Amino acid sequence: MDLSKKIFLALGIGFFLGSLFNYLGVMQEKFFIDFIEIPGSLFISSLKMLIVPVVFFSIVSGVSNLSNVSTLGRIGTISVILYLITTCIAITLALIFSNIIDPGIKKNITGLETVLKQEAPALKDVIINIVPSNIFKAFTEANMLQVIFFALIFGITLNLIKKNNVKLKDGILLLNDLFLKMIEVIMHIAPYGVFFLIFKTFLTQGFETIFELGEYFFTVLLVLIIHLIFTYGGLLLILGKINIFKFFSKMKNSMLFAFSTSSSAATIPVNLKTVEENLGVKKSVASFTVPLGATINMDGTAIMQGVATVFIANTYGIDLSVADFMSVILVATLASIGTAGVPGVGLIMLTMVLNQVGLPVEGIALIIGIDRILDMTRTAVNVTGDATISCIVAKIEKKLDLKKINS
Ligand code: ASP
Repeated sequence: MDLSKKIFLALGIGFFLGSLFNYLGVMQEKFFIDFIEIPGSLFISSLKMLIVPVVFFSIVSGVSNLSNVSTLGRIGTISVILYLITTCIAITLALIFSNIIDPGIKKNITGLETVLKQEAPALKDVIINIVPSNIFKAFTEANMLQVIFFALIFGITLNLIKKNNVKLKDGILLLNDLFLKMIEVIMHIAPYGVFFLIFKTFLTQGFETIFELGEYFFTVLLVLIIHLIFTYGGLLLILGKINIFKFFSKMKNSMLFAFSTSSSAATIPVNLKTVEENLGVKKSVASFTVPLGATINMDGTAIMQGVATVFIANTYGIDLSVADFMSVILVATLASIGTAGVPGVGLIMLTMVLNQVGLPVEGIALIIGIDRILDMTRTAVNVTGDATISCIVAKIEKKLDLKKINS
């Protein structure tokens, strides 16, 4: 059986057993839950362990071999613009569909407590923090924008020192290969990790929560699917001349990893490998666009935020004006840049959006119970967006090997 089939099977069994045990009320004791948390957490940590070295060595080896460093500025500009455009489309679709479906619940909403313990970071700080004042801190904290920034400078400088740089370049290429190989090794334990992650989610959350908030849940799901098929599919077809069925079939592993870990950051190593090896994007583009996307591009998250805004407004009986919708588009797009690619952060960033249009932040308490499950689906969309834009940028830069995707 190939790896994706195994992961898929593990996911199905985890979902089935978790929901069943939750329904029967067995294994609900803290002891069991703590115990089954161990394998899943080990799996996520082993993926996270690779993020910084994989991103650093990929970017340095990609950039240090560019014949013309000025292309880097172009690649950066095109990717940031495309990332922002797709996020704007995502949130617009979310607002359109949630206004048509009009999700809301008739529930007594008095007495809901504020569940938020964290503050959303200010955009100003996100921008200032791109340049690390201490590279060791950037590395130990796995601050992706800072690691990307330093890796770019490192690669460019290595390119500029023409004399005696070959050995270092070769060494970095070798280390890059080594870490890519390490991803392959870790992928072999993925089915077990995925099983425990999904099993625990459904064991503790149950399946019925989905139906309690059915309208909200299915609206988010519908818009995520529409965005996947039409926005990404359309872009790949029109700008990339890429067969979208082949694209999605090559993306299986990345999407499954994102789904089970609920973390775009933890999926960076796997997605980088997929984008380079299965989709044929050259390292000089992928090494930069994939980690950048995992950090600043969160279309799935923006979709959840759009639908959640309308849902909370409906539930509290507050009308939103066209101007409100415009500011939701703007703020959710900016929030997407500041959202870290780890589980649940999208919900915290939703406070920014709600504040902007004067909706009660406590409304988040209504949807928090179901967020873990939606987080899995939106993270799968987030990483697909990163891969899509990587392919488009590579196509524009003539750095896409269509043979790989078509093979
Ligand atoms: N879990 C999401 C991601 O990693 C972020 C979020 O929406 O909470 O992409």
